[in-house]
Amino acid sequence: MEEKDYLLKKNIKCPVCEAKIQVLALKSGKVVRTESDMDLRPRNTNGFDSLKYGAYSCPVCGYTALSRTFDEILRPQRKLVKEQIQANFVPKAEEPLETYSYDDAIKMHKMALLTAMVKRAKMSEKAYTALVIAWLWRGKRELLTAEDEERVAKEEAPVNGAEVMECINTEREHLKMAYDGFVTAMAEEVPPFIGMDMTTTEYLMAALAYEIGNYEDAAKLISRVITDKYVNSRVKNKALDIKDKILGAIREKEEA
Ligand SMILES: [Zn+2]
Repeated sequence: MEEKDYLLKKNIKCPVCEAKIQVLALKSGKVVRTESDMDLRPRNTNGFDSLKYGAYSCPVCGYTALSRTFDEILRPQRKLVKEQIQANFVPKAEEPLETYSYDDAIKMHKMALLTAMVKRAKMSEKAYTALVIAWLWRGKRELLTAEDEERVAKEEAPVNGAEVMECINTEREHLKMAYDGFVTAMAEEVPPFIGMDMTTTEYLMAALAYEIGNYEDAAKLISRVITDKYVNSRVKNKALDIKDKILGAIREKEEA
């Protein structure tokens, strides 16, 4: 099966301009999940990255959001989107794409982040959208690295070095944006944070803090997760895994 066989063109109504639109969505029940990354980035075994299809965009008014929050828009937010997005948007005439490249998906998720800012979405929604953008840059880097490895195996020179560096830097910027966003969300909101309970969110923040080199905060957050009586075993096991990494990083920093 090819990537397009996992996708369908879904007919929905845009909650902002009310146009009947078609969006590219994953067919339900076809994607097989496997072990996620340390920061809970989902992975699947179908030979393409299902994360690319996590946002919808209206070709008529430009309203864009994560598919899970696309319909959750209140009247005052709709007004903001109409004034600040639709007013500047040129409707798209072309047919929707069959599949998305990483660049297509990154562009769409950046638009979702911009729209979330315009509609004054909850901080957790903005933080999570930034996190998905980070994951997409990671996916793009993995693809480019694999291409270069194939070249090297055929004794050809790698060509993606500069683009790989851009992926690494941009991923890190967005991981930091996501971490800072979740810190604010924790102070301003009550769980669930975009579907995640408190402990899962603390675990995620610990992983993000570790990834951006903020080891002290990572250590504090992970000890809260490990000592939480109600933590589920999946999160607890992941927490124990990264606790050692965090402590190791702190030791290395002290010795340096
Ligand atoms: Zn619309």
